[in-house]
Amino acid sequence: MTTGDVRTLTVRAAAKINLHLGVGAVRADGYHPIDTVFHAVSLFDDVTAATGEPGSGPVLTLDGSDHVDLVDVPFDRRNLVHAAATRLAREQQRAPDVRVAVHKSIPVAGGLAGGSADAAATLVALDRLWGLDLEDQDLLRVAADLGSDVPFALLGGTARGTGRGEVLQRVDDRSTWWWVLVTSTHGLSTPAVYRRFDELFPTAPARPTPADRVERAIHSGDPVQLARVLHNDLEPAAFDLRPGLAELVSRGEAAGALRGMVSGSGPTCAFLCADADAARAVCSELRETEPARAGDLGADGAVLVTTGPAPGVHQVAYERR
Ligand code: ATP
Repeated sequence: MTTGDVRTLTVRAAAKINLHLGVGAVRADGYHPIDTVFHAVSLFDDVTAATGEPGSGPVLTLDGSDHVDLVDVPFDRRNLVHAAATRLAREQQRAPDVRVAVHKSIPVAGGLAGGSADAAATLVALDRLWGLDLEDQDLLRVAADLGSDVPFALLGGTARGTGRGEVLQRVDDRSTWWWVLVTSTHGLSTPAVYRRFDELFPTAPARPTPADRVERAIHSGDPVQLARVLHNDLEPAAFDLRPGLAELVSRGEAAGALRGMVSGSGPTCAFLCADADAARAVCSELRETEPARAGDLGADGAVLVTTGPAPGVHQVAYERR
């Protein structure tokens, strides 16, 4: 190998919460139609891809922040990073020679679409390192093939998602919203939460509840209005599978949050706060009380202050050796 052959690029991808998650009855193909408002928040995974070593991939290494349990993350082709690299290489008819190091701060199976964020980051890193310069539409198409939440991870910001969540329309969101996230080291399986939803709501309407009210509240810029209309159809199923979550939501609201809710399929809970000071106050109060729930939610879950909307996948470092 000659000097200058190995190129390393680090890109960052955000976690998402759902400000509205309307879920319709399961379709014949097994999917649930959704009408959602995705919102990227400032909790990120970093994906560092290195190319220039023939016959080297994809090879994956993983590490994580203290609050992230990596035990359930596969290293093989079931990992979405691996899937993204092989998929893009196949489309481009090239060898998937790449080493990818993922640093996870987004909890695993937390309802924050961390795996999807990593897949989106991998696509952007390889698009740059392989000099593909794909059109946005092409990247979004490959992303949608990898998973319903992957296109939004590319886009970031705030966006309405329909279909399975892969049909996206940006929402004009000029505010900074303050969120306290309470994560758990024990994830909840998204398919299990949807199955519980089917059992609890056997007569769910085919069309999911529309997200219009949340879109209007975002345009108002007023956290009190937004707090009133936050909505998650999966919340009863997540509460049923993890009863401690309902109590956690009440506790966060008692601590001063305008509103608490389960994020996506859970178990992460998101608390909307009026401003930065309120978010810090809710965060410290929840940090004091959370050890009491250790057995229920995982002793090492984190209580974090975040803001949204956060950007989509973006580059943070580049090196050539
Ligand atoms: P979903 O995106 O399915 O709604 P989630 O947001 O709750 O799920 P993820 O962190 O994306 O949770 O992980 C769901 C599962 O995906 C994990 O349990 C793990 O087995 C698998 N997985 C595959 N690749 C990754 C990855 N890069 N990071 C985390 N999990 C991954």
